[in-house]
Amino acid sequence: MDNTDKDWIKDNVGDISTDSGDFEGEVFWSTDGKHTVHVKASTKDGRRSALAWGNEVYKRIKDTYGTKQAQSVKEYAKEPIEDLGKCSSCGAPNKKSLKSGKLYCSALCWKN
Ligand SMILES: [Zn+2]
Repeated sequence: MDNTDKDWIKDNVGDISTDSGDFEGEVFWSTDGKHTVHVKASTKDGRRSALAWGNEVYKRIKDTYGTKQAQSVKEYAKEPIEDLGKCSSCGAPNKKSLKSGKLYCSALCWKN
């Protein structure tokens, strides 16, 4: 933790005694949306500072990137809707089974 971090914590989290509150903080950003905030401290003050820092960083990451689920939804929304053609029996648009990947009639006409 350098002085910039101490100032940032003081400005964003509150006044924390930082002289003996040394800690290591690290963040892993991941494209799968499972971001990780990690802190390590060996003193009580350190843990207090680390928790304040970690909580704030975690909140910022969540606000910026969203949860893993929210990121998935955003990614899937980008996928173009592919033209699956029309049912040869009734002409309704085809759908693709998410389970098997096979095409089927969206009107389920074979059931009639
Ligand atoms: Zn059909």
